[in-house]
Amino acid sequence: MSKKTADIAIIGAGIVGIAHALAAAKRGLKVVIFERNEQAVGASIRNFGLLWPIGQPSGKLYKRAMKSREIWQDIAQKIGLYFNTSGSLHLAYHQDEVAVHEEFMSLNSDTFEGSKLLTASETIQHTNNVNPDKLLGSLYSPTEVMIDPREAMIELPKWLESNHGVILQYSTNVRAINMPTIETNRGNWSVSQAIVCSGQDYEMLYPDWFSKEPITRCKLQMLSTVPQPSAWKLGSSLCAGLTLLHYDSFKACTSLKQLRQRFEKTMPFYLKHGIHVLLSQNNKGELIIGDSHHYCLTVDPFDQEDINQAILNYLRTFVLYPSTQISRRWNGVYPKLISGTEIILTPSPGVTIVNGLGGAGMTLSFGLAEEVMTKLVN
Ligand SMILES: Cc1cc2nc3c(=O)[nH]c(=O)nc-3n(C[C@H](O)[C@H](O)[C@H](O)COP(=O)(O)OP(=O)(O)OC[C@H]3O[C@@H](n4cnc5c(N)ncnc54)[C@H](O)[C@@H]3O)c2cc1C
Repeated sequence: MSKKTADIAIIGAGIVGIAHALAAAKRGLKVVIFERNEQAVGASIRNFGLLWPIGQPSGKLYKRAMKSREIWQDIAQKIGLYFNTSGSLHLAYHQDEVAVHEEFMSLNSDTFEGSKLLTASETIQHTNNVNPDKLLGSLYSPTEVMIDPREAMIELPKWLESNHGVILQYSTNVRAINMPTIETNRGNWSVSQAIVCSGQDYEMLYPDWFSKEPITRCKLQMLSTVPQPSAWKLGSSLCAGLTLLHYDSFKACTSLKQLRQRFEKTMPFYLKHGIHVLLSQNNKGELIIGDSHHYCLTVDPFDQEDINQAILNYLRTFVLYPSTQISRRWNGVYPKLISGTEIILTPSPGVTIVNGLGGAGMTLSFGLAEEVMTKLVN
């Protein structure tokens, strides 16, 4: 079989692969993307679709998140993708949650663009979908965005193909990389560079390299409602106290200790299953609800209904929405670094592995891809 050629091969059409394909194509390179499935069905279509800069610590990662947001916005405008810039609200129903919000703001007043503390009545004025009972206030941030990953992960590759000449090789498994040859089940390609963005399938190519990394898997349970009636709109994405324990941006707050102690006493099931609850809405009006976090190399194939019920119970403490009818339940898996924020490896000349973005791949990938590609092309 004759070899086909490109400047750069991207292995994996999840968001990390798509972001690197765009960054390469923008630099004038001939790009081919290999995806073993008929379409990407991994973490990149299973998530909330939240671009969540406020979860990233100030400095390099926050800047990367904001760069990604800028690129998402540009593409969304060009393609006509759902891109809802309603921001986020972290709601506070306990004094220890207010304390974390206040400390976060005093530590980061210059960093998180436009974020501010709202009183309870200002919060309700901002969105009347929140439960007003015992509400003490909220932390508002304007930078968070809802996209629809199910839409985006279908439209982005098509757009890369039609606007940037990217070659899409779906239903094509990359079996081995022996530069300059990419060996697939549908013939070989010859390329100058390869970027391996294989998500949770990371043991298939370069297993020895991954075995040296502090990496595990994280399984998350998710749900979505039917489309909300009468064009009901969520407004800002919502979350509450449990989320403060989850994101690295809050880790510097010493007041977090007291909050954790309360949750350990009152909600041990939630901490055991890594549950924190976020709510987003897609362009069909469905509410996307999650999630739990189980860290393990071998993922339990079965979902736990008591976890789903715990997620819904906590959600009901802070949001009022018309239809509670659940239409879908699913789980997603991403590779998670025990320490570190991403893996970038060079297992052989011309090959770069990019992985391990954990729960922030939608938020960070476009920014990270710009950094990786700038280094590679230079
Ligand atoms: C439930 C859930 C909720 C989340 N919520 C958010 C959120 O709201 N915001 C956020 O920023 N992040 C979120 N994340 C994290 C985000 O989804 C991930 O970080 C991101 O999708 C990882 O992208 P990826 O491209 O590395 O992996 P994937 O999307 O899994 O893509 C990897 C692709 O590589 C392909 N592949 C692997 N090996 C080969 C091979 N040898 N040949 C060909 N193809 C191959 C696979 O088939 C797969 O399609 C969430 C994740 C989950 C699971």
